[in-house]
Amino acid sequence: MSLKTENIQLKTGRETPVKVIYLLGLGHSGTTLLGRLLNAHSQVVATGGTKNIPLFLRGRKDCACGATQPAECVFWSQVETALGQQGLSLASLDVGYDAKALDGDSLRAYFKAVLAASGARVIVDTSRRRGYFSSLAKVEGVELVPVHIFKDPRAQCASMRRKGRTIFPAIWNYRMRSRRVRALGEAFPGMVHVSYEALCRDPRAQLGRIMQAAGLELEDTQLTQWGETEVHILGGNRQRRSRSSEICLDESWQQRLRGWEKTLISAVNRSEHRRNLAAAGIR
Ligand SMILES: [Zn+2]
Repeated sequence: MSLKTENIQLKTGRETPVKVIYLLGLGHSGTTLLGRLLNAHSQVVATGGTKNIPLFLRGRKDCACGATQPAECVFWSQVETALGQQGLSLASLDVGYDAKALDGDSLRAYFKAVLAASGARVIVDTSRRRGYFSSLAKVEGVELVPVHIFKDPRAQCASMRRKGRTIFPAIWNYRMRSRRVRALGEAFPGMVHVSYEALCRDPRAQLGRIMQAAGLELEDTQLTQWGETEVHILGGNRQRRSRSSEICLDESWQQRLRGWEKTLISAVNRSEHRRNLAAAGIR
């Protein structure tokens, strides 16, 4: 920080930056589970993806509490009020595909409204999009803690098929997305790479790495009470409504994939998975 900036900050009494843990990776990689584990920390609030706000307003995504409109939700109605005090509204935050249309002031105001509504100090955004991440990285007063979560490619492809999609695009996407996110990690050396399987097997160790990057201490309630902690994430899978705090590693892909599918996925993506694991400090 230059002396000049320092002086300006002293004069204006500028607040500390808003810290945002930003989850990157493919869909169905464990982002909902991770968002909830983080949300269970007393100083952290998970909002789901900021990209989902326009869908929430149009009734196409609902809040984890069951609300289908901000006015029905205790949390999002408070975010709306806090935004209103800054002359903004949730409707003015239509982020589009990559949030390119949003200016830094609006984004900062939105994050501050989230902190005011929740009483938290750190926000978790599960938007996953790299373009939105890059837009956010340029916003002054927002400090990003990027987290890349990935699965075993066979589990990832099986999850995609569960949604009625064929595995072929999923195989290709795994390869491309893994490469792109790791490349982004080179520009952000603080990026934390997390294996979904490792998170399920040793949540304390894996969550601990993320909390450390966010400058917070892991709290036991994150592991023992995440299912009971109030949550208002937009979007996410069925885990967003789980009331149980048990973490079960989903290995159903072993039965759901045919032998040749496992062989094909491994042939294309084994090395990408290895590189992801290496980035996560595994093996
Ligand atoms: Zn809600």
